[in-house]
Amino acid sequence: MKISQILNKAVLQLKECNKPSPRLDAEVILANLLEVERLYFILHKDQDIQEDLVEEYKQLIGRRCKGEPVAYIVGHQEFMGLDFIVNKKVLIPRPDTEILVEYVVEYIKQREEDVNILDIGCGSGAIGLSIASQFPKSQVTLVDISPEALELAKENARKLNIKNGQFVLSDCFESISDKYHIIVSNPPYIPAKDIEDLQIEVSTYEPRGALDGGIDGLDFYRRIATEAKEYLLKGSLLAFEIGYNQGNAVIEILKENDYKHVKKLKDLGGNDRIVVGELKTG
Ligand code: GLN
Repeated sequence: MKISQILNKAVLQLKECNKPSPRLDAEVILANLLEVERLYFILHKDQDIQEDLVEEYKQLIGRRCKGEPVAYIVGHQEFMGLDFIVNKKVLIPRPDTEILVEYVVEYIKQREEDVNILDIGCGSGAIGLSIASQFPKSQVTLVDISPEALELAKENARKLNIKNGQFVLSDCFESISDKYHIIVSNPPYIPAKDIEDLQIEVSTYEPRGALDGGIDGLDFYRRIATEAKEYLLKGSLLAFEIGYNQGNAVIEILKENDYKHVKKLKDLGGNDRIVVGELKTG
């Protein structure tokens, strides 16, 4: 079968199962299978593909049709210009989370010193490792409660050749003893009862432990904001990703816990997505 025929068939199938970006998905999955760039298809439309690869491709498109995210099917996701390995044990890094990383990067640049950074609930390592890659002299500690997530974060550090990351298996601060200039986290923040209502890509395929923020979705903000006070140096930064409707609630949590200069920032879609604050004492 020719590349153009295979792609057209896959696009049709993905349209029938109502996937929102059928052509992109079909091309990304085929490019990954053939180990080429998507651009390759423009010049090689008429190339024949071996039957066994066509069969394999059909299975992958079948998985996408059932709702599995493309990132899990191909096994990686770009974030901050870096290619992260992902699997179903970790949340897929989102473009909106880049706003959090960019804020932290700017904050570090302004401090003009080497800093210690802690990433709580690191998952694939997307946040902590992309910060670490930009500041090789800073130390970034990445923690997660999931051993599988931590293994993946380590694997990503190896693959990306990032040497200034440390990895600790820890339920929030339980196994942490140092102090930090910056604590950053994209904790689970979906209210438990709302998880089933998310799109199937998220509710069925992404790990519940990375999504479930308790009854009102705010459990981890309360816990981290309170416990972080013991682990932040004076005048240092706490930076959270938040759900689109949690801005004011998380601002309140930080203020109640004595953080100053508390503010929220918007994501690419214009929704509240980040809340930051600095510790008054430490
Ligand atoms: N941004 C994710 C979503 O809405 C949730 C991430 C999280 O809970 N930290 O699908």
